[in-house]
Amino acid sequence: MHHLRFDNAFVRGLPGDPEQGTRQRQVLGALYSRVDPTPVAAPRLVAYSREMAQALGLGEADVASAEFAAVFGGNAQLEGMQPYAANYGGHQFGVWADQLGDGRAISLGEVLGSDGLRWELQLKGAGRTPYSRGADGRAVLRSSIREFLCSEAMHHLGVPTTRALSLVMTGDTVVRDMFYDGHPEAEPGAIVCRVAPSFIRFGNFELPAARGDVALLQQLVDFTIARDFPELRGEGEALYAEWFGQVCERTAVMVAHWMRVGFVHGVMNTDNMSILGLTIDYGPYGWVDNFDREWTPNTTDAGRRRYRFGQQPNVAWWNLSRLAMALSPLFSGTEPLQAGLDRYADVYAGADRLTIAAKLGLAECRDDDVELMRDLYALLEQAEVDMTLFFRTLTEVDLHAVSLTPLHAAFYDEALRAAAEPAFLAWLARYAARVADDPLSDDQRRARMRAANPRYVMRNYLAQEAIDRATAGDDAGIHELLEVMRRPYDDQPGREHYAQKRPDWARQKAGCSMLSCSS
Ligand code: AMP
Ligand code: MG
Repeated sequence: MHHLRFDNAFVRGLPGDPEQGTRQRQVLGALYSRVDPTPVAAPRLVAYSREMAQALGLGEADVASAEFAAVFGGNAQLEGMQPYAANYGGHQFGVWADQLGDGRAISLGEVLGSDGLRWELQLKGAGRTPYSRGADGRAVLRSSIREFLCSEAMHHLGVPTTRALSLVMTGDTVVRDMFYDGHPEAEPGAIVCRVAPSFIRFGNFELPAARGDVALLQQLVDFTIARDFPELRGEGEALYAEWFGQVCERTAVMVAHWMRVGFVHGVMNTDNMSILGLTIDYGPYGWVDNFDREWTPNTTDAGRRRYRFGQQPNVAWWNLSRLAMALSPLFSGTEPLQAGLDRYADVYAGADRLTIAAKLGLAECRDDDVELMRDLYALLEQAEVDMTLFFRTLTEVDLHAVSLTPLHAAFYDEALRAAAEPAFLAWLARYAARVADDPLSDDQRRARMRAANPRYVMRNYLAQEAIDRATAGDDAGIHELLEVMRRPYDDQPGREHYAQKRPDWARQKAGCSMLSCSS
């Protein structure tokens, strides 16, 4: 472990808070505060990502050492680490929330990895910071398992995301009122070490802008471009415009992937939007089982459902428009920012067409195919059909003799299925005719579909099963799920359990269909 090379550009290149320690405060004129993790009782490594360890240049002996659990549980530091909490603001549920900051995330430092990339290591749940706002700075085991597993699963699904290196149980308990209904309970605490080239969020720019600190804003923009977008050329407004356009583009690609695999972020506040277009902050996220664009897993948002599945592309645009507002003091007019937002819409539309072609196994997406997919989505919604299972099974359907029978397992409700059967058969006939008119061979079509329609996703109930087992002292469920999710597009014999649709018991169970922000 001592061979890790740290290069802490963020704290070296940007102004920090002169005060150290965890006193709660408004931090003006600075982009971070130096703060150390608070030690825990008995750190124990529960799981780690071997791909992430490898990228960092950590071997099995490193990971197995007591020092590893100590460092990634917050009880020890390696030479070269300079822990800090970032200062940022954000729009939460559409409302400006002012200073938020890393209330329970502490970055340890930036490693130059064995893969040549820069990887910032950040502990989530490592104790209080100046930004904890009265909360404890800790995280519970259930939400840490969910973040650890899902960020690695997303990576293997090909969705841009922050990563996870390790999951450490702290040996301490954390008190949470899971449904904010007056029933607080002591739960096991845990810490995830998450990893990304950068954890800068839209909110990092919004806060100095809201405070009228244009010099600080510009300093952060210049830093971000130099460190995180080194491929961009030019200078001044033109460079800023190109950079904003890039952020828009990456955000569009990320959201298009979410829609492809059925991922619902759940809390798309601007403090949870990565400047690199990475999925960040896995809280009350969820996966759609039955295809439903109205669905949100987040009980805190159940009334308005601002962040429901089908709304995500629009919310991302709105969030980018908040970022554009924040950046506007750096521009003499609004036109370049508007151009960036338009680029979002264009790139999203293009990515959506790629998704349609890939999910349906077509060489390209023609205008009629957009309609074909729209009609399918409407049918899936009406008849409550499992998204993942339907598309994966569609890959195998014999289009020369269309029948709904092979797809029956994707339906949740017999009566709804029976009622929708004629409409589905009509749709399958249309699809078969379209496929017959496509240049791809059957084998090519199937290969294309298998690469876009996962067999395995991190269904909410699967995560909950792993959580229930871990809470009872059995970590094996976490390891099994991590293993399955390493190859989500491959059929894995013997692991059929992980590919099944949501069982009935999970329909309304906490953690499986609904989650609160309490974590
Ligand atoms: P989230 O909705 O998880 O993105 O969190 C929103 C804000 O609340 C961020 O500034 C977090 O750092 C902060 N926060 C959430 N939970 C805690 C906690 N247990 N202790 C301190 N800060 C927290
Ligand atoms: Mg957050």
